[in-house]
Amino acid sequence: MSSTARVLPPELHPGPDIIRRRHKPEPGTYGDYRECLRWEFGFICAFCLLHEADIIKHGAEGTGMMWVEHLHPQSTTGKKRKHQYANCYYSCRFCNNRRRNKPLTKGGQRLLDPCADAWANHFDLVNARLNPRTDNADYTEKAYGLNDPRKRKMRKHRRDRIPFLLDQVETLPGIILDLMQKMSASRGTDRQKCMRHLRTLRASLDQARRELQTWAITPADRPDSCRCRRARSEKKRIARRRIPKMYADQAVAVPVP
Ligand SMILES: [Zn+2]
Ligand SMILES: [Zn+2]
Repeated sequence: MSSTARVLPPELHPGPDIIRRRHKPEPGTYGDYRECLRWEFGFICAFCLLHEADIIKHGAEGTGMMWVEHLHPQSTTGKKRKHQYANCYYSCRFCNNRRRNKPLTKGGQRLLDPCADAWANHFDLVNARLNPRTDNADYTEKAYGLNDPRKRKMRKHRRDRIPFLLDQVETLPGIILDLMQKMSASRGTDRQKCMRHLRTLRASLDQARRELQTWAITPADRPDSCRCRRARSEKKRIARRRIPKMYADQAVAVPVP
């Protein structure tokens, strides 16, 4: 029996919706909210939309490459909002480092808030760039370096790699089957040649399937629990273990043998 795995799309387009928070962790320090934030933002940087798997293929958690970003920086609001869950956003280290203490508003422009502004209303993804369409998007793009060359490189890598892997997974089984038929009808060196090709093709298929798994939209090291109080209803509990719909809708289903 086969099932399907859901992997990242070659290009993740800015979502038409805001991030609607479903987690309500008990107050703590901001580092305590990581598990909640990972699910809440779909394992995706709230600003540049890079996924954990773009940054570190075999699990970004624990590497320090995904971080907690404070939309209201400590420099302007003091320590007051530092540990407020509503002020914590899941972000990649690149975005977090680039912004540092850049203010929320500057010269009439303000940073966009992924929980209040839908990215699709402000950005277009064109050639691995998040192109700003509004003044505030322009300020946000600069403040976080949304099109930093490293980020573009990662977006391009996924854009090229995933279609290649999907193609391998789709076409290789048929080619293998043909070759097996050919092999059963052949003798001697022809047969040996077929066997060698078969080994290579099977290894490629295996490799493609394994690599696709590293692009799972919910990563293998997703947390099972978070800091939220035990939900009374099953429905609420399930809702917390879902990534935002606007991202889930873009996932690609891949058959798993
Ligand atoms: Zn939670
Ligand atoms: Zn980022």
